[in-house]
Amino acid sequence: MIRLEQINKSYRVGQHALHVLRDVDMSVDRGEMVAIMGSSGSGKSTLLNILGLLDRYDSGVYYLDDTLMQGLSERQAAAYRNRFIGFVFQSFHLLPFKNALENAALPLYYQGVSRRRRNRYAMEYLERVGLAEWAEHLPSEMSGGQKQRVAIARALVTEPRMILADEPTGALDSVTSGQIMELLEEVHRDGMTVVVVTHEHDIAARTDRVIRFRDGQVESDGRTVSPDGGEPSQAA
Ligand code: ADP
Ligand code: MG
Repeated sequence: MIRLEQINKSYRVGQHALHVLRDVDMSVDRGEMVAIMGSSGSGKSTLLNILGLLDRYDSGVYYLDDTLMQGLSERQAAAYRNRFIGFVFQSFHLLPFKNALENAALPLYYQGVSRRRRNRYAMEYLERVGLAEWAEHLPSEMSGGQKQRVAIARALVTEPRMILADEPTGALDSVTSGQIMELLEEVHRDGMTVVVVTHEHDIAARTDRVIRFRDGQVESDGRTVSPDGGEPSQAA
């Protein structure tokens, strides 16, 4: 699904270059559920933004579903994003003056899908995340967990090949976090590729594989981490 080879990314900060990703090699198979861990500032969001074609990389190669993602115009990047990728963010990123149904339907609006069809699809996915009764409610009337469910419905509504979630439970209490992870696990069981950035060990432990970042480099890549935060059992 994803193959990165020797990816480098720097940001210019004043006169200096901040080297955020250093020779990152990594791959994710179709249908895998992978956690990306690492301390704050280690480059996790930068990596996810590159995977999601929201940001460019400086050197290296990125294959998405066997297609080289290089030198894409804004329009081409948007087209791949639309077709392949659903995003979930820590702070939900819902539009405050749109109800749950409209928020869930938004990506279809950008695809030019008719109102009737997008409402039908969005309702299907609101049902899937258990929020059919909340369709008419505004984000301000919903709990954090409900808002994240709407965001997951919005990520799924275009039937992407992969979900990229950047600390999706970072703003939620542990019970609600567990529910959101259950939902992502369900989506994964149905065959979706899921990449979830988290700094919580119990969240990472629910995935198939944990890739740890440190200072912009892959520090380890192995299967499952114990809930108490122990090291991966088969670090590579
Ligand atoms: P993480 O998600 O692991 O906390 P980030 O990928 O957000 O880390 O950031 C990695 C480093 O890059 C940090 O030092 C951050 O300050 C810096 N950074 C992130 N985005 C930008 C940007 N747009 N411009 C300059 N520096 C940035
Ligand atoms: Mg981050």
